[in-house]
Amino acid sequence: MSSSPPKAPQVLDPEQVVRGLHPLMVKGSFLLSGAITLQYLGQWRLMAWSFALNTSRILANILLSKLFHRWLSAHVVEWSRMAINLSGLVGLGLIAGWSLLLWTYVPFAMLWLYGLDGRGRLRAFVFLAIMDGAALLSGVDPFQPLSFSLIGVLTFLLTEKRADLLQQSLDHIIQQREQLTKTRGRLRVLHERAFEQEKLSSLGMMAAGVAHEINNPMAFVTSNVHSLFKDLQRQPISPELLKEYVEEVLPATLDGIKRVNAIVSDLRYFARGDPEVHAEYDLNAEAKSALRIAQGQLNHCRVEVELGEVGVVVGRPRQIVQVLVNLLVNAGQATKIGGVVQLSTRREDNGVRVEVRDTGTGMTPETLHHLFQPFFTTKQPGMGTGLGLAVAHGIVTGQGGRIEVESEPGKGSCFTLHLPRVAHHAPANPGRFNEMTSAAA
Ligand code: ADP
Repeated sequence: MSSSPPKAPQVLDPEQVVRGLHPLMVKGSFLLSGAITLQYLGQWRLMAWSFALNTSRILANILLSKLFHRWLSAHVVEWSRMAINLSGLVGLGLIAGWSLLLWTYVPFAMLWLYGLDGRGRLRAFVFLAIMDGAALLSGVDPFQPLSFSLIGVLTFLLTEKRADLLQQSLDHIIQQREQLTKTRGRLRVLHERAFEQEKLSSLGMMAAGVAHEINNPMAFVTSNVHSLFKDLQRQPISPELLKEYVEEVLPATLDGIKRVNAIVSDLRYFARGDPEVHAEYDLNAEAKSALRIAQGQLNHCRVEVELGEVGVVVGRPRQIVQVLVNLLVNAGQATKIGGVVQLSTRREDNGVRVEVRDTGTGMTPETLHHLFQPFFTTKQPGMGTGLGLAVAHGIVTGQGGRIEVESEPGKGSCFTLHLPRVAHHAPANPGRFNEMTSAAA
């Protein structure tokens, strides 16, 4: 089921609003002008003046909003409209007298004056000042302009406030919509990543299950081949064919079996979900174990191993294997056929130093900047989760160590772990199994 996002509300455009109101204004204008003109029924000269002034006023208004607004700025259109209406009304008042119907035009005109261009108040003030001034100068009872001006001012303020409130709620809706769009985007990304992680987690569990299943038959295969080898070795005179088996085939088979057993045991050890306690461990042995696990991703390159005398280290060995597997897999994936991946360990002042160096693609400053951020990956969808280095960083710093990275695009990268001889005794991480699967990504 696909759902399209709701249509974005637009920011209030004053011109659009004025043009939207225009048909109603024109109708109102015709209605009021008709009433004003009709009141002079029988006084043909006044009626003609009223008709002429009102019609030209309305036509000028229509021309301004329909045609000239394309070439003139909003301010010019609004001020011109005010000037046209004002001169029509004042002219009619001076020629035909200040009738009540003429004054009803004042609150109506105040609606036009608003105009949403931010200068409405000034225009309304100028309009009322000139209209009332002209009426008072012609000797009109002051209560007449006062009453209609008051209604006009209130009409104006109410319209202004209403538009203001509408604009505020529109802004609010726009803001909420933007937040919603961002949250939807984030949710989609998180969903995709959770899906990837779930897939990897299942793969990890499957690998652990397969390792477990292989382990039992491998036990008796190992034992039987070993017995066969020993028995054949004990035979005093072996025929030529058996001699070849005893000297070449069986030792090679036993060597192969040893490797399979080592991988199976590494996988089972690596995939164990129980929280790991601090223990003394042989860092070089764990490094070799990590190499065996990551071997599948390193077959295309030359692997150079230089394990120095580092002595016993205290910490969480399975977590360190997890970090090394991740670094080795990344190095293998970044390196082309024939490239070199180096793994080395050595003692340093306060602890030990492990280096994973490759002659692969290297990283841009941008990638380096985001390297340890969870979910940052440059790999194809399904190839990487972007969790490996974030988890590795957490593990290493959690044990009181640090990771350093050097990289040059096109030349390669070097990840250096500085581990203390005795790691901090932070609580074991129960979510290790998931981390393992992400590291293996
Ligand atoms: P993932 O491997 O799932 O992408 P990581 O956190 O392990 O997640 O790595 C994040 C990113 O760092 C990778 O996508 C890659 O761009 C970059 N990276 C890590 N190691 C190397 C390396 N040895 N060479 C080049 N790029 C690397």
